[in-house]
Amino acid sequence: GSTLEIKDLHVEIEGEKILNGVNLTIKGGEFHAVMGPNGTGKSTLASAVMGHPKYEITQGSVLLDGEDVLEMEVDERAQAGLFLAMQYPSEISGVTNSDFLRSSINSRREEGDEIPLMEFIKKMDSNMDELEIDKNMAQRYLNEGFSGGEKKRNEILQLMMIEPAIAILDEIDSGLDIDALKVVSKGINQMRSDDFGCLIITHYQRLLDYITPDHVHVMMQGRVVKSGGPELAQRLEAEGYDWIKEELGIED
Ligand code: ADP
Ligand code: MG
Ligand code: MG
Repeated sequence: GSTLEIKDLHVEIEGEKILNGVNLTIKGGEFHAVMGPNGTGKSTLASAVMGHPKYEITQGSVLLDGEDVLEMEVDERAQAGLFLAMQYPSEISGVTNSDFLRSSINSRREEGDEIPLMEFIKKMDSNMDELEIDKNMAQRYLNEGFSGGEKKRNEILQLMMIEPAIAILDEIDSGLDIDALKVVSKGINQMRSDDFGCLIITHYQRLLDYITPDHVHVMMQGRVVKSGGPELAQRLEAEGYDWIKEELGIED
């Protein structure tokens, strides 16, 4: 499996400090959850690792198997094996879902070793069945007119098709009803293998009822302030974040 190392990451948006030294290491075979109150920088972390131009990295490093991710273009990050749900623009006119998936898969393979069409179709069909996605989604333009729930399911379809080394999923559970949440969780759980590591960012414990993380981290004020096992998420669900604030002497 691969290793993503986020070391002492400091990020500013328009001159304002948002991340103040985030440290996280995600290895193949591991599921990590990042939780925390709203506005503590969770999405900023995902966007900074993704390479969103608005986020200025002022200190620290991000390494994928020792390679400097911050030096890579966004598409190079994907080719290197990183999957960042938000890297896919909300709509890409003129590109079908199926075309997009095929070219994404092939961009991670050697030239001359492209996925055979029949193998691609079979894999896409079975993953769409698994995720209870309507087959006509394959030929629709990417995200164009997709409902919120369809977009989320489609992100998991991308995950299952592209089979990245490391994925960062930001609020993949937001706006999903319970049935969609179960389907999305099932897809993520199916990805479990030594060749896949995942960082699941969520504001709510609800998703973690279906996906059991190996490690749980709490972010506050732009840094990881506490890490533990799945029991940490349960305590947050029961008691909220105040006890951590008290422990750390944080005022809001
Ligand atoms: P979280 O995902 O934990 O809710 P965010 O990373 O979205 O937190 O936001 C962290 C802080 O950065 C917030 O104070 C937010 O207002 C600010 N912020 C996030 N994105 C932007 C942006 N694009 N422009 C300006 N401020 C931003
Ligand atoms: Mg938020
Ligand atoms: Mg967020």
